[in-house]
Amino acid sequence: MRRRKSTIFFVVLGVLLIALAVALQVGWILLNLQQIALLVLGIIFFALLITGLVLNTTFLVREIRKNEQQDAFLNSVTHELKTPLASIRLYLQTLKQRDLPKEKQEEFYDIMLADSDRLLGTVEQVLAASKTREKARRIVQTPIDIPELVSECADQIRSRYHLGEDAIRVLDANDELPIEADSEEMKTVFLNLLDNAVKYSGDDPEVSVKFRLRSTGMVEVHVKDKGRGIPSSELKSIFKRFYRVPANGRTDPKGTGLGLFIVRSIVESHGGRILVKSRGLNRGSTFIVRLPVSR
Ligand code: ADP
Repeated sequence: MRRRKSTIFFVVLGVLLIALAVALQVGWILLNLQQIALLVLGIIFFALLITGLVLNTTFLVREIRKNEQQDAFLNSVTHELKTPLASIRLYLQTLKQRDLPKEKQEEFYDIMLADSDRLLGTVEQVLAASKTREKARRIVQTPIDIPELVSECADQIRSRYHLGEDAIRVLDANDELPIEADSEEMKTVFLNLLDNAVKYSGDDPEVSVKFRLRSTGMVEVHVKDKGRGIPSSELKSIFKRFYRVPANGRTDPKGTGLGLFIVRSIVESHGGRILVKSRGLNRGSTFIVRLPVSR
């Protein structure tokens, strides 16, 4: 709220300064109509002044937005770390204080394991995001079987969310798909996309993956869900670091806003592109990963 106020303050300040500069310049021109040389000089300075002011205001607004996103990120990461830790602590205390039957103990151990997986997942995502920002990153590209790799990721997500085979359908590829890539990084890409597809689909996810070989020399992997969808105004922003679509009163699944940023960095470092389509809220989304065919 304080930030929003200061954004408004800077925008109003910028507009007032521009209005003042225009008034000064018009007055000055009227007083010095004959002196053409001075007039030209004045116009140049005027243009410089205005450009400087506009740049200054844009910069300030952008900085404030960035800070806002970083705050939101810190909040969500702290929450993502705190919740499973608090849960593990509670179960440990219970185990220590009470003599529980064997099967209850087993159940508690499973919950604690799931919580520690969640902790590890968050830490790994933060690490992956800072890794993708390293300039001199080395990518080890080897031939990979992309349908098989995606199927492995689908298995992992099904077991993460305790889903049946039908919740994620990986369709057979009709063509040979010669791809060279870093297989660990590609797993990160499809684990993130499938995780999101399930996470933003509510209770009954229906996700499908298909493969296409394009005449343009690109392989496409389409990850399609029938979930909550993405408003068209948000389609560009979702790939930004820390960005999450505003909840607008819904209860939002947890997240850090890093997944799609990591996905895009990895795909682009492989010479590919990531695209997203959605017909709007509650009408599902399709993420398309485009990768170049290896020669
Ligand atoms: P996170 O899921 O941790 O918030 P991501 O970077 O993976 O971060 O996604 C950014 C945002 O894009 C999410 O907060 C969500 O609003 C939106 N999003 C991503 N995938 C989907 C999807 N399959 N369906 C609907 N919204 C999605």
